[in-house]
Amino acid sequence: MTSSFSPTVAEIDLEAFRYNVENFSQLASNSLLMAVIKTDAYGHGAVPIGKEAIKAGADRLGVTSVEEGISLRENGVEVPIHLLSAVFSEQAADVVKHDLTASVSTSKLAESLSKEALTLGKKIPVHLKIDTGLHRFGITPAESISFCRDTYGLSGLEWEGIYTHFSSADEGNWETTERQFDLFLKTVMDLKRDGFEFPIRHAGASTIAIERNDMHLDMIRPGAALFGYQPEARQKELVTLKPVLRLKSRLLSVREFPPNTPVGYGGNYVTDRNQRLAVVPIGHGDGYQRSLSNKGEMLVNGKRAKIAGTISLDQTIIDVTDIPDVREGDEVVIIGRQGDDAITAREVAGWMDSIVDEVLASLMGRVRRIYH
Ligand SMILES: *Cc1c(COP(=O)(O)O)cnc(C)c1O
Repeated sequence: MTSSFSPTVAEIDLEAFRYNVENFSQLASNSLLMAVIKTDAYGHGAVPIGKEAIKAGADRLGVTSVEEGISLRENGVEVPIHLLSAVFSEQAADVVKHDLTASVSTSKLAESLSKEALTLGKKIPVHLKIDTGLHRFGITPAESISFCRDTYGLSGLEWEGIYTHFSSADEGNWETTERQFDLFLKTVMDLKRDGFEFPIRHAGASTIAIERNDMHLDMIRPGAALFGYQPEARQKELVTLKPVLRLKSRLLSVREFPPNTPVGYGGNYVTDRNQRLAVVPIGHGDGYQRSLSNKGEMLVNGKRAKIAGTISLDQTIIDVTDIPDVREGDEVVIIGRQGDDAITAREVAGWMDSIVDEVLASLMGRVRRIYH
């Protein structure tokens, strides 16, 4: 069921994406580059983006779910694909079958993966996850030696790597981050002394890739930044990035209302003069968050129109009173450039009191993606 006329569209600029990956490739000149494309490539579409990342120089891909990994394999991706989240031991057969590189931090998963690998006559690469303070997944440094005594010798596994993920790097909390980094390196050394070696050590996501060359180790794992947004504004000067996604639609209707007209669910927006209001066919059902109600802005004819009232599932009303010559069918830009002005995903995130990742990754599958 496709309609040839689909007004709400996310344009994905593959050339901008390629430019960003190449910049990270240069940052990673002494280490491997894993392009993290979890959550459907932060809303940009994992398969086309994954393929482009490899063309642009990424050595590996990172996702969170087994399903995302399988989908990349089924679409012909051959480089190593890492599962950055823990997985259930029930998923071990799928992991092995599709040659996905799991993060391991329980002996139950290690044993299941090894068993499945041996059944298929394989030895599969895995990475040991160390919890240095995020407290999401991983074994603690204190548990690491006894963990390795139990699992390192499992004959279906090749312990290719060891890694951690920082809790407070984006916030620029270097004291905490350096403590976590030192703890990680100490754990790696302690393990090595006991004969447990891991060729690929890695710790850093976008922020570390951009700001802390000294923490790159053997691989960096940028995600969000590949889509054109430094995680923090302080990093603007350190690397040039181009936004990859432009979200646009067309005005579905334009109507005039007298003063004192309540508009939208709950009537919490009331016109204060003769106003012209337009309906845009995008709503929180598309991932355009309801918290943008009465706060966000969109571009029409290169000028800013404020959101009027509560965003519904499928529609948003904007105030175009002060923009001349607005007609039904006109293009409206929700994220991106139009004329002399641009709305960035960072600006939208600010209105939502959130971060760029949420703005981009929330965009639902029903918003058609067009790749240039
Ligand atoms: C999401 C994630 C990344 C990428 O993080 P960004 O901040 O988007 O660069 C890297 N590593 C792990 C383990 C992750 O979960």
